[in-house]
Amino acid sequence: MISRIFEEAYEQVSFFSNPKLGLNAIIVIHSTKRGPALGGCRFKSYNSPNDALDDVLKLSKAMTLKAAAAELPLGGGKAVIIKKEGEFNREAIFKGFGEFVNRLNGHYITAEDLGTTADDMEIIGQVTPFVRGKASSKGDPSPYTAQGVFLSIHNNLDFFRDLGYLKGSTPSISIQGIGAVGSKVAELALKEGYRVYVSDIDKEKLDAFKKQHPGVEIVPSEAIFEQETDIFCPCAIGGVVNPNTLSKIQSRIIIGGANNQLSGEECYELLRDKRILYGPDFIVNAGGLIKVASENMDNAEAWTQKMIAKIPERVRLIFEDHLSKGIPTERVALQIAMKNLG
Ligand code: NAD
Repeated sequence: MISRIFEEAYEQVSFFSNPKLGLNAIIVIHSTKRGPALGGCRFKSYNSPNDALDDVLKLSKAMTLKAAAAELPLGGGKAVIIKKEGEFNREAIFKGFGEFVNRLNGHYITAEDLGTTADDMEIIGQVTPFVRGKASSKGDPSPYTAQGVFLSIHNNLDFFRDLGYLKGSTPSISIQGIGAVGSKVAELALKEGYRVYVSDIDKEKLDAFKKQHPGVEIVPSEAIFEQETDIFCPCAIGGVVNPNTLSKIQSRIIIGGANNQLSGEECYELLRDKRILYGPDFIVNAGGLIKVASENMDNAEAWTQKMIAKIPERVRLIFEDHLSKGIPTERVALQIAMKNLG
């Protein structure tokens, strides 16, 4: 693992331990080439510290690419706090973590991620200024993520129509997962008159959503892939686009909010053979990061909207490049990120 850190040129990997608090954390700064490394903090159990290191290394690199592709003045970083079995003092853990963050003098800025909340960020904010998404700053990024996802579809409808990728005059979309992001995408699509199909493993959530929005169609979890819609929109978990699901997916366009949607490069050929346009996740779901990046700006909302408006344009350019040169869309997206990294 250490040789990988050197070979892949991670700028800084820091291990922190405070046995009194039962706190073990890793902060990785992958790159500060475009600015301070901003990335969320995961609070999660791992099978081993090596697994935690592997996770945070990968995640920090992905943040560099996402920020660079979105033209943000930010580098990439990420943190994990390794969750222990049994009781713990949450406030003390996050204060202790905040002190670690503070020692990095702003080269790393933390934020919410899996297992952490806006209230945890508030606690971290008591000991360091290098935190975003505090409860008091009302900085929920998910509506902005959803906006970027939906615009990537909606602003490109004419492009998809010209390609013959839309089945009828009314666009249709199947959304996997109606959590913070998926529910907002569904609402935006309903507002624009789409036929909307949703699935989620949480039945109560689905029922509540249907009650609020009678216009949506509920689809059983596994059937979502086989839905005859124009767009498949993964907004739940990673790896949902894989050889197995690709044999079922009926949509010609895949654009969604979930991170790491492709199981791996084995999907490239299958996507090409089925003539499916896949919107690379780290391009499409950058709206939330843009929102978090804007938090301390004077003209935050205007800047956020300007940057989010570029997402659908970028997605279309990626599709055009893919169609003309035959390069997988994810590779085109990586080229954009690398170019912006100089
Ligand atoms: P969330 O936890 O609010 O919602 C996820 C939803 O997916 C839940 O309702 C859950 O029940 C459902 N789900 C889980 N497994 C499922 C399955 N197999 N089939 C159907 N539904 C399933 O999370 P979120 O904030 O909406 O994020 C969704 C995805 O988008 C995640 O992959 C996240 O990493 C990514 N993402 C989110 C943001 C953001 O701003 N929240 C930003 C970038 C990327």
